[in-house]
Amino acid sequence: MNTSGTESEFTAGKQSILAVGSTEHQIDSLKELLGQEYRVTGTLSSEEAARQLRIEPFALVIIDTLSSDFNGFKLCLTIKQDPDLSSIPVILLTSLVAGEDLASGLRCGANFFVATPYNPDYLLSRVAILLNNEFRRAAESPTDDLPVVIGGKQFTISATRYQILNMLISTYEGAAEQRRELNIAQLELKERNLQLRDQTKKLALSEQNLRMVLEDNADGMVVLDLKNRVRFANSAAKVLLGRGGDNLIGSPFGFSVTPGTTEEVAVSYPGREAIIVELKVAYTIWEGETSYLASLHDITQRRLQEEKFMEQHAQLQVANAQLQVLAALDGLTGLHNRRTFMENLDEEFRAAKETGANLSLSLLDVDRFKSYNDTYGHAAGDDILIAVARTLKGAARNSDLVARYGGEEFVVLLPGCGPSNAIGQAERIRRIIEGAAWPERPISASFGVSSLTSAISSPAELIAAADAAMYHSKQHGRNRVTHADTLRLASLKD
Ligand code: GH3
Ligand code: MG
Ligand code: MG
Repeated sequence: MNTSGTESEFTAGKQSILAVGSTEHQIDSLKELLGQEYRVTGTLSSEEAARQLRIEPFALVIIDTLSSDFNGFKLCLTIKQDPDLSSIPVILLTSLVAGEDLASGLRCGANFFVATPYNPDYLLSRVAILLNNEFRRAAESPTDDLPVVIGGKQFTISATRYQILNMLISTYEGAAEQRRELNIAQLELKERNLQLRDQTKKLALSEQNLRMVLEDNADGMVVLDLKNRVRFANSAAKVLLGRGGDNLIGSPFGFSVTPGTTEEVAVSYPGREAIIVELKVAYTIWEGETSYLASLHDITQRRLQEEKFMEQHAQLQVANAQLQVLAALDGLTGLHNRRTFMENLDEEFRAAKETGANLSLSLLDVDRFKSYNDTYGHAAGDDILIAVARTLKGAARNSDLVARYGGEEFVVLLPGCGPSNAIGQAERIRRIIEGAAWPERPISASFGVSSLTSAISSPAELIAAADAAMYHSKQHGRNRVTHADTLRLASLKD
């Protein structure tokens, strides 16, 4: 075998072990396990192993029968049939599940079987024993072919007594190891069983609590199976649904449910008006089964109140609108009041200034009205004011704005009217009032008219001009129309 000059080097150091593994990982863990005491050479290939065996004097070979090329048994046989190598002890790592494995192992001359997954300490002890019993292995020669039955199958094997003994021991040890693991697993199982029983108990307890909480809830609480059949309903639910306990359990719920949603449903049954119910659904576990938990909250009253509120709100809006109209009108005559007139004047003034359109204003005051009141009474005076208002309204164009300016004074805003049109309109109205058939005595009014000119720069100036013109009418015999422009011209003449 090895004739190179390195033998002394090997024998001087640690003993060498050749590990033929099935995975890199297995080789690494074998090296880690055995590396402290032995020199370990690892390979995945039985061919490479055979090559290594010819160049290095290994003290022991460990072969996984599942080594990557699945030739573990064959490799072992090669070793055992080679006179130069046969004395090297071989440990086979095998699953030991099939009788074939045992028979093949004995046939191939393996010295030891170690069941995989192997216990590291066990493997370590087997390695030590094999390396210390060199003399026994060397002494024995194989027995003749022995017929054996393993797992109901017949095999013929030839092996040394020592080999068979070791095989029996390792099989026993493997079984003992499995039994030990089985014991541990059984203990763990027992422990887990206890925990499970504990959890089941707790779960039952929490379900009991849930049942109690649901029962006491003021809202209707219903538990449904996933086919929508009622499994539990609290008293509130029975009332809401109008169904007594016995015929409710097990019967269809009657509403479609979608977990995670809130819906409004109408619940009606004979003899009661329909109620509106807020239906919320979630998943729950009930008696160990996934179920739906539905809560039913009666919102009929809330809806009614909301409806009532909406109705009141609408009424309030109508009243508000009416109030707004009223606030814009004069209570006695129904004409626009002074505030509305001022707002309109501001707007028309700005528009006329912007566009250069005409704008006139006619102010009139009932003549000697105080004496009318004094003579015929305030109520009779009111009738006169109402009649004058009606006359003004009748004489105005749609675009004109007629308003009660205050007391027995009225104003007509005339958009688009220049001085002559405005004077014409005022004159027409003056004549209507003068000519009307008044109940007690003739009624007349004095007019002051003003028109927008470049000299007038504000609504107040336009009113002041009309007021001055009206004062002029009063001063000059009443029952007449004066335009502010004529005053200006007169003053220019003076
Ligand atoms: P003039 O020709 O100078 O305008 O004389 P006049 O009497 O009309 O003027 P004066 O300002 O002295 O009197 C106005 C009167 O109008 C006084 C008041 O009693 C009356 N008056 C004001 N508002 C109302 C009202 O709403 N109803 C009634 N009946 N009278 C009112
Ligand atoms: Mg007056
Ligand atoms: Mg007057």
